[in-house]
Amino acid sequence: MSLFDVKHQAHAQRLIQRAVAHQRIPHAYLFHGPDGVGKELLARGLAQLLLCSSPVERALDPNDAETVGLERLLTGCGDCEDCRAMAAETHPDWHLIHRQLNREHPDPQVRKRKALDLGVDVLRHFVIDKVGLTPTRGRAKIFVIREADRITTQAQNAMLKTLEEPPGTTYLILLGASTDRLLATVRSRCQVVPLSALPLDFVRSRLMELRSELSGDSLEWYAQSSDGSIGVALSLADDGLYELNKRLIESLAKGSIARGDSNPKDWLTEAKSLGELYQKRDRDITGTEATRSGLKSVFHLVATWYADVLRRTSGEATMLVNQAWRTEVEQAAKSMQPEQAAQAINRIAQAEQHLNLNANTQLVVEVLLTDLAGIGAGNPLPRESARA
Ligand SMILES: [Zn+2]
Repeated sequence: MSLFDVKHQAHAQRLIQRAVAHQRIPHAYLFHGPDGVGKELLARGLAQLLLCSSPVERALDPNDAETVGLERLLTGCGDCEDCRAMAAETHPDWHLIHRQLNREHPDPQVRKRKALDLGVDVLRHFVIDKVGLTPTRGRAKIFVIREADRITTQAQNAMLKTLEEPPGTTYLILLGASTDRLLATVRSRCQVVPLSALPLDFVRSRLMELRSELSGDSLEWYAQSSDGSIGVALSLADDGLYELNKRLIESLAKGSIARGDSNPKDWLTEAKSLGELYQKRDRDITGTEATRSGLKSVFHLVATWYADVLRRTSGEATMLVNQAWRTEVEQAAKSMQPEQAAQAINRIAQAEQHLNLNANTQLVVEVLLTDLAGIGAGNPLPRESARA
C-alpha cells in the first residue's frame, strides 16, 4: 500500500503532493467523501510517506498519470524497515483510531459500553494523551481517526487544542463520510481534502478482481448499485443483495405489490436476515437497529426499481441499474405513468424517514405496501401520509 494505490482521486493526490513538495504538510487533515472510495488508503499512503526513511519519486504509469494529472508521485520506498512495518500494520508510530477501541480502554466502564460513537474517553486515552510523546522510531507519529462523523461533540471539543497545536512530529488525519456533524471549530483546524465517487468502469474492474465468483449480470448490478464506491459494491456483494433484489423484482414484476397482495412479513423477514449480517459486521448495533437498517436496504432496492421504471416511462435513455431485468422494467413502464413511479419513490423516502424516527417497523411496511398498492392502482394519494 502506497500513494500509488490510490486511484482516481486526482484532486486529493495533487493537494498532498503540493504540500509535500513545499514541505508544508498540515498537521491536521480531514479526508472526507463517500465510504469505500479510498480515504483510508490515502491516509495509509501518506503515513507511509511520512514515516519512510528514504521516500522516492516514481513515475506513474501513463493511464494513472492521466487520471491524477501528475506524472510523478513522491511515495514511501516500500523497502525500508518503516515501510515494511507499515505494510505489516506493526509500525509503532502508526495509530488507527476507531470506535471499537473502547474494548482496549483501561476503564472497565468504558470497555463495557456499546461503541456507537467515538467518545471522549477513547479519544483522550488513545489520541490526546499520546500526541505529545516522542515518536518511537524518530520520524513522526500518525493518528488516523476513522468515522470522524461519529466523534461526539464532547470529544470534538476535547480535541480542539490538539488539532490546533499538535507537536511538530504529530499528524492527525480524520476520515469521514460527511463533515456535517463536525464542529466548525474542528473543520477549520483541519486541511479539508475531498475525495470523490469512483468511475463505474474502475469499480467494475476492481470488483471483478476482488470477487471473481460474480457472474456478468450480478457483477454489473453491483457496480451500478455502488454509487462509485468499491466499499459499497463489496458489502452489497457480500450480503447477496443481487439475489434479494431478484426476489423483490419477481414480486414487483408480477404486480403483487400493485395489487395489494404482498405480505409485509416477507419484507420484514428479508430485513431481519440482512440485519443479522450487519450485526456480524458491527456487533455494537442492536437487533432492532440492525433490522431497521436491513429494511432500509430493502426500501432502497424497491426505490431503485421504481427509479428504473421512471426512467423508462419518461423516455430517458440512460442505463438502468436493473439492466438484467430490463424486460420486466419495460413491461412495468407500460402500465405506469411517470407520476406514479415518482410518487412511489417519494412514499419510500417517507417510509425511510419514519424508520429514522424509530417508528414501528411492521407498521411502516404495512403502510408503505398499502400506499404502493394505491399508487399501482392509480388511486390519488394525499400529499402527506399521516398514518405512520
Ligand atoms: Zn520506505
